[in-house]
Amino acid sequence: MEKTAQYIQKIGNDLWLTEDERQNLKISYRVKEVLFSKSSPFQHVMILDSYDFGRMLVLDGVVQTTSIDGHIYNEMISHVPLSIHPNPQKVLIIGGGDCGVAREVCKYPNVKEIDMVEIDELVVKACKEYLPEVSGNLSDPRVNFLFIDGVKYAAEKENEYDVIIVDSSDPVGPAEQLFSKEFYVNLHRALKEDGLMVCQSQSPIFHLDVLKQSYSHLASLFPITKLYTAVVPTYPGGMWSFTIGSNKYENIHVSNFSKETKYVNQDILEGCFKLPEFLQNALIDL
Ligand code: SAM
Repeated sequence: MEKTAQYIQKIGNDLWLTEDERQNLKISYRVKEVLFSKSSPFQHVMILDSYDFGRMLVLDGVVQTTSIDGHIYNEMISHVPLSIHPNPQKVLIIGGGDCGVAREVCKYPNVKEIDMVEIDELVVKACKEYLPEVSGNLSDPRVNFLFIDGVKYAAEKENEYDVIIVDSSDPVGPAEQLFSKEFYVNLHRALKEDGLMVCQSQSPIFHLDVLKQSYSHLASLFPITKLYTAVVPTYPGGMWSFTIGSNKYENIHVSNFSKETKYVNQDILEGCFKLPEFLQNALIDL
C-alpha cells in the first residue's frame, strides 16, 4: 500500500497517477481504480483503470501500455519485421511482459516457436488477469515463457532466431542493459544468417540521443538499418520510434496485408519508414 501511495495521489475526491520520470515534465492520469498493486524483486507493478486510457500497466510509476492505445505499439513492433522477413519460423521476444507482442506474433501460422524472455513473471500474471484487452489472455502453445534476464539469455544464443523483437521498458532499472552495444552484439549472434531484429528506440522528440545511439549500434552490426515511427498517445511526445537491424531483407514483401489488426494495414507498412526532415538529418553519418 505504501508503494501505491508513492505513485497515486488523492486530490479532493479524485485519484491521480503522476509520471515524473523526467525532470521538467509531469504527465498525470485521472484514475478510477487501482486494480492490482504489488512489488516484485525487479519493480513495482500496478494495473490501473483510468478515465481516458482505460486499463493500464504501470511499472515503477511509469505507464507501459494501455487498453486504448497499446495495440498501436504492439502491432507496429511485430507486424513490420514479420512483413519484412519472408519466412519467420522462430521468433524471440525480449521483455514484452504485457503479452501484447506475443499475441500479434501468434497471428502468423508459419511461426512455429516463440520464446518470450521476460525478467518479471509478475508482469505477465498481472496482465493476463487484469489487462486482457492487451494480453488477450494469451495461451497459444507456441509461446514458451522464460522468466529470466534477457541480457543473460541473449549472451548464450547463436544462429537460432529468424526474428528478434526487443519490447523493453525505458532504459532504466532492469531494462538499462537492453540498450547497450554489448546486448545488440549478442542479439546479432543469436540471429540466423538472414535474420533481423527490431527494438523500440524511444521518443524522437524527447530521447533523440537514445534513438541515435540505438541506431548507430545497429548500423555498426548489420548491413541494413531502418528507422520507422508511429504515434502512441500514451508515450511522452506521442511520436515513437522503432529501429530494425537486418542481415539480408530490407523491404516489406507483403502486398496484401490481411491480419486482424486495428492500426497496421498495407498503407501503414509501406508508409511508416517515411521520416520527417529532422529525423532524416539526425541519422546522417550514423
Ligand atoms: N511497450 C512498453 C514500452 O515501450 O514502454 C514496454 C512493454 S513491456 C511491459 C517491457 C518489459 O520489459 C517489462 O515487463 C519488464 O519487466 C521487461 N524487462 C525489463 N528489463 C528486462 C530484462 N533485462 N530482461 C527481460 N525483460 C526485461
